[in-house]
Amino acid sequence: MSDLAKYKMTLGLNCQPCDRWVEIIPQDWLDAGKPDIDYVEQRFKCEVCGGKADKQVRTVNVGQIAQHLPLPTRETQLT
Ligand SMILES: [Zn+2]
Repeated sequence: MSDLAKYKMTLGLNCQPCDRWVEIIPQDWLDAGKPDIDYVEQRFKCEVCGGKADKQVRTVNVGQIAQHLPLPTRETQLT
C-alpha cells in the first residue's frame, strides 16, 4: 500500500452486483493508522453485499502530471 502512496496512485474497488465504486487513497489509509497491506493479495469485501470487490489501480489525476510539463517561454509574454 505504501508503494501506491509513494507514486500517488489510488486503489479503486468495484462491486459489480451493487454497481458501487469505492476509492481508497493509500496515503489517507496509512495516515489513519491502517496496516501497510499487500493490496495485490488483499481481498476486499463489499460493505453492502459482502461480495468480492474488483481492484483497479489508478493514477490520481492528469492535473498533477501537467505540472511537470515545461512552462511557456518568456518570449510568449513579450509584445
Ligand atoms: Zn456489493
